[in-house]
Amino acid sequence: MFEVIKTQGRARRGVFQCAHGTVQTPVFMNVGTQAAIKGAVSALDLKEIGCQVELSNTYHLHLRPGDGVVKEMGGLHKFMHWDGPILTDSGGFQVFSLSGLRKIKEEGVTFASHIDGRKIFMGPEESMRIQSNLGSDIAMAFDECVENPATYEYAKNSCERTLRWLARCKEEHDKLNAQPDAVNPHQMLFGINQGATFPDLRVWHMQETAKIDCDGYAIGGLAVGEPTEVMYDIIDAVEPHMPQNKPRYLMGVGTPSNIIEAVARGVDFFDCVMPARNARHGKLYTWEGSINIKNEKYKLDESPIDPQCDCPVCRNFSRGYLRHLFVAGEMLAMRLAVLHNLYFYNSLMAHIRAALDEGTFDAFRETYSAKLDQRL
Ligand SMILES: [Zn+2]
Repeated sequence: MFEVIKTQGRARRGVFQCAHGTVQTPVFMNVGTQAAIKGAVSALDLKEIGCQVELSNTYHLHLRPGDGVVKEMGGLHKFMHWDGPILTDSGGFQVFSLSGLRKIKEEGVTFASHIDGRKIFMGPEESMRIQSNLGSDIAMAFDECVENPATYEYAKNSCERTLRWLARCKEEHDKLNAQPDAVNPHQMLFGINQGATFPDLRVWHMQETAKIDCDGYAIGGLAVGEPTEVMYDIIDAVEPHMPQNKPRYLMGVGTPSNIIEAVARGVDFFDCVMPARNARHGKLYTWEGSINIKNEKYKLDESPIDPQCDCPVCRNFSRGYLRHLFVAGEMLAMRLAVLHNLYFYNSLMAHIRAALDEGTFDAFRETYSAKLDQRL
């Protein structure tokens, strides 16, 4: 299911097989929260901008339209018209970050919907059932993403519980895949490492998590406000304890530089709302650094966002036109900006893979790691 075909230092070039196709890694997953990419981008567009894996949010789809509705509509692939791989998160992160009122118990979490305030219960079994109804290729285990900063005591109790939750997820997931009416009987399950910013907890939790046979393993609970160096230190501590023959996923990360640095530390999968969110605010990525397209200096600029970019936006539209769309508040501004930024991230990953194929990743990292995060 996953094969590492080349390595350079700790960086891995791999191929991952799932029910809806083959994924070349390292890969950046494009976030379509509610089965749509914010900024009026559809699954048809994802094909054109080089997306390999789409990521949807369990919490959001459970609340609206309801995972039962999605199942009746034939599953998430058919519902949103995307035939490639889909990963669904567990809902845990949103339960803990979006809902104001929540109560954690051993069984799971009771929380208030951020839409209408109604009380909802979600635990490992519920999360697995919802993701089974959605029919994604990869389901994520239900975990608690501990707030930063956290006390050692809290983080320890929490990641022990997350471990017990993973065992329950695994049991329920196996049961659901065996159901005759399973939307995707080949759905995979990834476990998640937690432990806040405490290296010893992180390592212990990873070692215990790896004992439960999952199809991949993620590092969660990072990029939640801790300094970048702390994040890199945690990856350095955890990575040696992650199974070599399974994909590794760093959740919610990050800037182009964060991605290059995490690839160098042995990570294969990424996702982040940053490129799409930044696009909607006019912050666009180029191979020289990022620009703010709303800036006055682009008013009469006839060049594309990035002369080195082959995306549908850069092939057809000028900076001056895009700036005008932003200033005029046209919806098209966001759509074009999101298309470019996601294409940029997907193409960044393609460049990383090519560098790994050619054995030039160190030079690529040297040239681009700092450069891509600078503002022009
Ligand atoms: Zn472009």
